Amino acid sequence: MKANCWMGRGDVEVRDVPDPRILNGHDAVVRVTSTAICGSDLHLYDGFVPTMKKGDILGHEFMGEVVEVGPDVRNLHVGDRVVVPFPIACGRCAACELGLYSVCENTNPNAGLAEKFLGHSPAGIFGYSHMLGGYPGGQAEYARVPFADVGPIKIEDGLADEQVLFLSDILPTGWMGAEMCEIKPGDVIAVWGAGPVGQFAVAGAYLMGADQVVCIDRFAYRLRIAERAGATALDYEEVDVREALLDLTAGRGPDACIDAVGMEAHYANPALYAYDRTKQATRLETDRPYALREAIMNCRNGGIVAVIGVYAGFLDKFPMGAVMNRSLTLKAGQCHVQRHLKPLLAKIREGDIDPSFVITHRLPLDEAPRGYQMFRDKQDECNKVVLTP
Ligand code: NAD
Ligand code: ZN
Ligand code: ZN
Repeated sequence: MKANCWMGRGDVEVRDVPDPRILNGHDAVVRVTSTAICGSDLHLYDGFVPTMKKGDILGHEFMGEVVEVGPDVRNLHVGDRVVVPFPIACGRCAACELGLYSVCENTNPNAGLAEKFLGHSPAGIFGYSHMLGGYPGGQAEYARVPFADVGPIKIEDGLADEQVLFLSDILPTGWMGAEMCEIKPGDVIAVWGAGPVGQFAVAGAYLMGADQVVCIDRFAYRLRIAERAGATALDYEEVDVREALLDLTAGRGPDACIDAVGMEAHYANPALYAYDRTKQATRLETDRPYALREAIMNCRNGGIVAVIGVYAGFLDKFPMGAVMNRSLTLKAGQCHVQRHLKPLLAKIREGDIDPSFVITHRLPLDEAPRGYQMFRDKQDECNKVVLTP
């Protein structure tokens, strides 16, 4: 089959690779009908994650048709149409029982490697390096889906791929970011990053009853998409973000702040981007704050900072003094996608949200290399790329 493979920093290639096979009784094989490129893929593309190997198949946002099931799979059958969540979860361990699927204890065969970098191991993730299990990803014609009983959600009605594909990751991720904010009527929420994840955080915050959601980025075309979800847009190259946020909140700061940027902050501004591959450290040498620091420094006293942007390794100049002295609550995590699937599918069905509004580019899988380049470099007003094998 054909698959989009990581070949080195800034280099992906669609290659012929062996078809996936059932390796465990709980596996299914899915023929991929739609798959997307995520901001998290850019971290691999840009070489921020040291445990990639040449030839690894990328992609963790995908859906398709079940073409084979292992003997222990009970609730899926050949022919079912499914969306596959990006974290691989067993559904039975202590973490899964708490609904913390992205930190499942049973799905990272390379847990030791993850412990070295992260202290404990989170769940395995499709197409997301050997530290997170080394699972081949879904930017391919076919994908093996472990624990197929637990993760995939069946799509049984006429919803188009583009309406449900983002259940695999970015819709529940934005939703989780908003949920972390414990939104009450009257709340003002600020979201750093007007990428697809930030755009869904904006939409989620409004659905949860926020009074006003502010979205911060420097790309006008992305801010316009966030505005369509209801956001007040702030271009951080045009306005003083702190002043604008204080103006909107009677001088207190937003009730909660969402970091939907992650490591991206460090390469958005080349002056900030000093990366030490050997130490896995990101150092900041200028006074332009990275998104997380700006979120912490501007959140109102006693407020919540929700980190859904992905980080790896260590950050210097982390403002712990502000977190401690101003009673801030810091929450973070890879999305526990599985627990949001049913409620969010219902919202799509009821017309509360149509996630397809984030898509700007549709390309055949063969053109994945061009898709990665456009998405990273914001060419042609690229916001979200969907690939079709
Ligand atoms: P993206 O790269 O398309 O968007 C990131 C946006 O942040 C860009 O528009 C960029 O201009 C903006 N940005 C960069 N520096 C900024 C700054 N200092 N202030 C404000 N905005 C800034 O990515 P995406 O697909 O929207 O994903 C966003 C983040 O969410 C990534 O870090 C991704 O890895 C992460 N993510 C996390 C999860 C999860 O489970 N927690 C899931 C999916 C994606
Ligand atoms: Zn993703
Ligand atoms: Zn588990």
